[in-house]
Amino acid sequence: MKLSSKKKKVWKRAKHCHCNVQDCAQNHRLCALCCQTIIYTAYESNQPHSEYAWNIDHIKPKSRGGTNKLSNLQATHVRCNLAAADKLDD
Ligand SMILES: [Zn+2]
Ligand SMILES: [Zn+2]
Repeated sequence: MKLSSKKKKVWKRAKHCHCNVQDCAQNHRLCALCCQTIIYTAYESNQPHSEYAWNIDHIKPKSRGGTNKLSNLQATHVRCNLAAADKLDD
């Protein structure tokens, strides 16, 4: 699967944000880890330092036998993804 289509599918599976700013319905979802807003156009490669930057996280890490199937993927903040990865290394 191409990244662009996987990105869209993972995005669509994320919980909806209801902060009601103008482009919320189209452009906002909630991080699976902290339930705060992520913004579609702030995908990590576009705006890696944005507080709304997000990427695709493996629910079960690949190092533990997790797959690249949609059921194992979720949209999370870049910062939350990194924080979770740090914990696994402890
Ligand atoms: Zn919103
Ligand atoms: Zn988060």
